[in-house]
Amino acid sequence: MTEFANPSDFDWNNLNFSYHPLPYRFRAYYDNGTWHDMGLETDPYLPIHEGSTALHYGQQVFEGMKAYRRADGGINLFRPDQNAARMNRSNARLLMPEVPTEMFLEAAKAVVQANADFVPPYGTGATLYLRPFIIGVGPNVGVQPAASYIFTIFATPVGPYYKGGLTPTAYVTSDYDRAAHGGTGQAKVGGNYAASLMPGDQAHQAGYSDVVYLDPRLHENIEELGSANFFGITKDGQFLTPKSPSILPSITKYSLMAVAEELGLTARETTISIHDLDQFSEAGAMGTAAVISPVGSITHGDDKHVFFSETEVGPITQQLYNRLLAIQFGDEKGPENWIVDVPAK
Ligand SMILES: *Cc1c(COP(=O)(O)O)cnc(C)c1O
Repeated sequence: MTEFANPSDFDWNNLNFSYHPLPYRFRAYYDNGTWHDMGLETDPYLPIHEGSTALHYGQQVFEGMKAYRRADGGINLFRPDQNAARMNRSNARLLMPEVPTEMFLEAAKAVVQANADFVPPYGTGATLYLRPFIIGVGPNVGVQPAASYIFTIFATPVGPYYKGGLTPTAYVTSDYDRAAHGGTGQAKVGGNYAASLMPGDQAHQAGYSDVVYLDPRLHENIEELGSANFFGITKDGQFLTPKSPSILPSITKYSLMAVAEELGLTARETTISIHDLDQFSEAGAMGTAAVISPVGSITHGDDKHVFFSETEVGPITQQLYNRLLAIQFGDEKGPENWIVDVPAK
């Protein structure tokens, strides 16, 4: 029997990024071409068959998103339709069934509503992290797509990545790739993460916060920073971010591109050479967990390139961050349809 967490267990101002067993998760089961038996469950364990394709052949897709407590006590989801759409693009790549957008959105809302007491208070910067995922299950041994699937969403409260304000960190290029050209880089699949564990560990051992992955064909252009997308602010006011078929299209990135345009920058996806970092006055990594991690420096071979500062965040990076957070927490109105209210149950 799992002992569930209590809201009173948490010190909301000092949460990190770790798993806490909350009472409810959503589950749906797919057999014979249809989703069935969908609803909330309490058991955090998934009893799955030893032949499950998720275990052997990585037939697995995941998503990551957050629920935000507003000042008025209500709860926001941020662009969950984009997570649903991306999950289905990932599913298609691994021959997994479509999760209808409506089902995905209702599932996310149901998990938040059922665990509403665990959505951290407004003002702490903490959020309720949601982890939707889908796995191929059932008796199987050959390399082929499963006949059966489980779609589930669990939730866990997480702290803000930066408690004392945005702090730049150092990155280093790797000789390894996280994904192949024409591989699964565009899909949010566990296999890409498995491939990233060793290079990530090597970077940490060497004193860097994470790896800069270069394009897998030429090892010339910037792809991703660990499990986040890259942006640079040019000296003439452009927000540039890599364009490549092997990076994961970050929802935070597309949102920050819109915010950058609002702030008067020109936002563009383009090829960014590792040898052309002098064009940037500021740089950062983008993803749901941290929103923005300022990049202090990138080391490539013997060359260490420092952006704005190794110790202080740049002014444009700070502005982008503040505006996106204000939209997510409901302090400021953002573009149409970015915010989905989760009504109290
Ligand atoms: C999830 C992910 C991101 C960030 O995407 P968001 O939608 O912004 O959270 C970036 N890169 C990789 C490899 C990812 O898996």
